[in-house]
Amino acid sequence: MVRETQMLIAGELVAGEGESLPVYDPSTGQVVAEIPEATFEQVHQAVMAARQAFPSWSETTPRERSYLLLELARRVEEEAEAFARLEALDVGKPFQAVLNDEIPAIVDTFRFFAGAARVLPGSAAGEYLPGHTSLIRRDPVGVVASIAPWNYPLMMAAWKLGPLLAAGNTGVLKPSEITPLTTLKLARLLAEIFPKGVVNVVHGRGLTVGQALIDHPEVEMISLTGSISTGEKVLLAAARGIKRTHLELGGKAPVIVFADADLEAAAEAVRFFGYYNAGQDCTAACRVYVEHPVYERFLSLLSEKVQSIRVGAPFQEGVEMGPLVSQEHRERVRGFVERALATGHVEAVVGGRPMEGPGYFYEPTVLAHARQEDEIVRKEVFGPVVSVTPFSGAEEAIALANDSDYGLASSVFTRDVGRAMRVAARLRYGTTWVNTHFMLVNEMPHGGLRRSGYGKDMSLYALEDYTVVRHVMIKHG
Ligand code: NAD
Repeated sequence: MVRETQMLIAGELVAGEGESLPVYDPSTGQVVAEIPEATFEQVHQAVMAARQAFPSWSETTPRERSYLLLELARRVEEEAEAFARLEALDVGKPFQAVLNDEIPAIVDTFRFFAGAARVLPGSAAGEYLPGHTSLIRRDPVGVVASIAPWNYPLMMAAWKLGPLLAAGNTGVLKPSEITPLTTLKLARLLAEIFPKGVVNVVHGRGLTVGQALIDHPEVEMISLTGSISTGEKVLLAAARGIKRTHLELGGKAPVIVFADADLEAAAEAVRFFGYYNAGQDCTAACRVYVEHPVYERFLSLLSEKVQSIRVGAPFQEGVEMGPLVSQEHRERVRGFVERALATGHVEAVVGGRPMEGPGYFYEPTVLAHARQEDEIVRKEVFGPVVSVTPFSGAEEAIALANDSDYGLASSVFTRDVGRAMRVAARLRYGTTWVNTHFMLVNEMPHGGLRRSGYGKDMSLYALEDYTVVRHVMIKHG
C-alpha cells in the first residue's frame, strides 16, 4: 500500500476528512491506496490559504520565484525513480517510459518556467499623450484553481504549476481522483520549498471537491485539463463568478499520409504515437487518412508493426504498452470498437478486444475502412485504437481532417515541402506536425481550437495566460 498520500493545505501536510476513495493498480485491478477526499471545509481552507498568501507571493521578484522553481525541478529530478515508480503503478504506464520520457520533460517544464519568470513578455513603456508616460504591466491573476486529468498526472501538475507560480499567482491543485499518487507525493516537496499557502493540493472527486473549488468565490481563474463535459461545467461555474478560464479538453488527431510519403516512417510514427500511453492521450495519432494508391500498402505496414507492440505490466522488461486506466474506461473503449465493427464495413485488422486475465488490458487495435460518418472516426476513444480511412487528393484530406469537433493536434506525412506547408496552413488545429507526430517542447505552445478548448500550456504563451495586462499612466512635467 502506498503511504505518502497527504494533501497540502496552508503549508501543512494533512489527511482528507471526507469519504475514502480507493486507488487501483490498473495492471492487476488491486487496491494500492485508500485516500480520504477533502471536505468542503478543507477546500475552503485551501482556497483561503492561497488568498492570504497572494499579496506577499505576488510581490516576490521573478528571481526569487525562479530559484524556487529550480529547486523544485532539482528535487523532482533527485526523486525521479520514486516518482516514476508511483506514476507507473497508478496509471499502468511502462515504468521505463515514465522514467526516461516523462520525468525529464516534467523537470524541464519547471526549469523552463523558472527561466521564463525572469523574461515575462509584454511589459512596455511609451508616450501616447504629450507629458504622459504609459506603462504596461503584466501582473498575476490571483488565486487559480488547477484541475488535472488522469492520463499524465504529474506532467499535467507541472504544466499547471509552472506558469501559475512563475507569474506570481497562488492556487489550489486537484489531481484526478483516479490517479492522485504522484501529485500527493509532489505536495511534500511543495510544502518544503514554497511559502505557506502559495500552493495547496486537495484530493477528491470532480463532483464534490472539484466543483467546490471552481465555485469558490475567491477563485479568480480556473485551469482545467479534462473532458469537454467537465469543460462545460467549468464554464458554467466561471460564468457565475466571471472567472477567467484556461481549458485543455479532448482531441481526435488526424494523421494525413500522402502517397509520396516515406510510408515506413509514417507507419512507425503511428505505431508509436497512436499507442503511447495506451492511446490515452489527447494528441494520440488515432485518425489516420491515407491516399488511395498507397492505402492497402500502408495498412499492411501498420498492421505488421502494431502486432509487434509489447503489451504488459508497467515493471515488465521491455514493455511498450500497459493497461487502460480503469475497468470503466476499458468498457468504454470496448463499446466504441464493438459499435464500429457492428457497422459491417469496419474491419479489425489487428486486435479489437479486451485482453484475458487480470488488469484492464486492451489489445492494440487497427480498424480499417472506417468512414467519416462513423462514431469511431468522430468521437474521442482514448484507447489503443487507430482508425484508417482512404482519401483522394489534398482537398479531400484537408476537408476530412478538419471535419471534427476537436482542434488540438494534427500531422501530415509527405516528401513535398510545398504541399506540407500548404496543408499545414489550412488544418484548423493548435498544432500541426510534418513527418512526425506528438513531439512537444517546453518552448512551444500546446493547446486546442474549437471544442478542444483554448489557452496554451507550455511556452511563454502559457505564462501570458496566467497574467493580466494592466495600464499605468503617469503625468509628468
Ligand atoms: P475528466 O473531465 O473526467 O476529469 C478531469 C478532471 O476534472 C478530474 O480531476 C476530475 O475530478 C475533474 N472534474 C470532473 N468533474 C468536475 C466538476 N464538475 N468540477 C470540477 N472538476 C471536475 O477527464 P479525465 O477523464 O480525467 O481525462 C480525460 C480527458 O482529458 C480526455 O477528454 C482528454 O482528451 C483530456 N485531456 C486533454 C489534454 C490536453 O492537453 N488538451 C491533456 C490530457 C487529457
